[in-house]
Amino acid sequence: MARTPLISGNWKMNLNHFEALKLVQELSYQVTTDDVDVVDISLHPPFTDLRTVQTVLEADRLPFHLGAQHCHFEASGAFTGEVSPAMLAKMNVSYVIAGHSERREVFGETDEMVNAKVKAILANEMVPILCVGETLEEREAGDAETKVAAQVKAGLGGVSAENVAALVIAYEPIWAIGTGKTASADDAQAMCAFVRATVRDLVSDEAADALRVQYGGSVKPTNAHELLTQPDIDGALVGGASLEAESFARIAQFRLTPESGD
Ligand code: PEP
Repeated sequence: MARTPLISGNWKMNLNHFEALKLVQELSYQVTTDDVDVVDISLHPPFTDLRTVQTVLEADRLPFHLGAQHCHFEASGAFTGEVSPAMLAKMNVSYVIAGHSERREVFGETDEMVNAKVKAILANEMVPILCVGETLEEREAGDAETKVAAQVKAGLGGVSAENVAALVIAYEPIWAIGTGKTASADDAQAMCAFVRATVRDLVSDEAADALRVQYGGSVKPTNAHELLTQPDIDGALVGGASLEAESFARIAQFRLTPESGD
């Protein structure tokens, strides 16, 4: 089954709304309509930039999907500092990252919270990007698959097969995020295939074949081609390299990028 790769830029806590506007405009010069015929691209700015980015995407009809980095799972209420899925949906957000390792590690998000969030995002007709991945310690102890399978199972609990088929799982080894260390293409492929096999066991063949599995962890123009042409890798969740228009555009154009290019 042909799955359209999804290239997602996670800006994390970077760029104010003026800088966000500049980056989107620069990206619009670098990414061609030919590129977006073959890949989907989502941009995940901080909350304070969302309205600005939404406005420029819509006014200039730019071919990027609006994304968010996080949301709460409740619809409204006394949750100081939080933003609800309904608020994001109202801004035409298409993709929401759920359970990024930084949210799990720094802000104490549990598998239960991530599962509630996945369901709330789906209920508001947006696509969750469910993040899973092991620590270096877990990898070295031979526990990478056990950890990732448990996160996939918990994250997808109670989600219908039809919804699983339409969502995105980002496999992000924690030791590769923001460190400059990348999983080898073989290891990344093996783990993304394992995520798909886990969904096959848990849900159905149809869901496993349709679901998109991204790789994340120090993806750059120089390694994008090798990683993203693996059979079970359907795109990338990109942090650092998404803050610069040329590098993010070159990742989105991974098919053209020679493996050893600089
Ligand atoms: C991320 O933020 O999910 C990520 C993979 O970051 P980086 O590309 O900087 O490693």
